[in-house]
Amino acid sequence: MDFFDINSILLEELHDLRLEEKQIRLYVARLDKIHPVVSGNKLFKLYYYLERALAVPAQPVKTYGGAYSNHLVATAFACNRLGLSSIGVVRGERPDVFSHTLLQCEELGMHLEFASRDEYADLSKGNHFNAEECINIPEGGFEPDGARGASVIMDHLKSIHPTHICTATGTATTLAGMLQKATSHQIIISVPVLKNMHDLPERLQFLNGQKRYKNLDVWNDFHFGGYAKKNEELFRFMNQFYEMHAVPTDFVYTGKMMYGVMKKINENYFAPGSVVCCLHTGGLQGNLSLPDGSLVF
Ligand SMILES: *Cc1c(COP(=O)(O)O)cnc(C)c1O
Repeated sequence: MDFFDINSILLEELHDLRLEEKQIRLYVARLDKIHPVVSGNKLFKLYYYLERALAVPAQPVKTYGGAYSNHLVATAFACNRLGLSSIGVVRGERPDVFSHTLLQCEELGMHLEFASRDEYADLSKGNHFNAEECINIPEGGFEPDGARGASVIMDHLKSIHPTHICTATGTATTLAGMLQKATSHQIIISVPVLKNMHDLPERLQFLNGQKRYKNLDVWNDFHFGGYAKKNEELFRFMNQFYEMHAVPTDFVYTGKMMYGVMKKINENYFAPGSVVCCLHTGGLQGNLSLPDGSLVF
């Protein structure tokens, strides 16, 4: 799978007076730079599924997502490059006007099917696993194989010896991967982008066979009202963060995560001497759904 270069993950150190004053080193792991389409964590989560798919290339890869899903477009891209056919099951009725994400999926040769919300809820849980002779990837790669793939991200962070690693959490598959490889004195911080995400222990149990971790901290206050919800304050932060550090973020995941991290730095959550590494898990294509002028980048 040589269409991406995961060996060149950029660990970018950010500088400002506040960080200096608080004696914190802050890094952003720029997974978003791996590739403009298959950016971020999605590629890692897909790795073992793709490996399985390559062993039976006659079978299409089938996966699931919403109309703006980063996972769907990443799967379409990977399958395109690997010469595998792909089917994307999209939540909701077929829209009259396709989102940028769905157009890109089609351009990459993904066959799109639309499922009503009820149908979708059933399908995306894999309730028909392999019924149709395809390689089934659950929504967001939410299975132990997805977490195993995500854990590879940790291998690329070692050189900076982070004391804290922060990641935005959707399905928790990436989080589970981080926890697999964290040392006992590394704190893993999860920033859920969904409101009232109470089932994290059950998710980790399913993915890793372990419910609770002493070195996990979950920040539940930065979802901005729920999944893909946004407001002026978030946009203002994302724009300021870009102007200061030249790091673009997305409004669904990484913008909220970075907002939380900068706030916690202000509140002295991190002790002097901390080395904080934030995963830029990509997702920038999602910003294309915003009205023009919302963001300066
Ligand atoms: C999918 C996604 C996440 C969430 O990853 P999970 O493994 O589902 O928790 C975080 N950031 C971005 C940009 C994503 O696209």
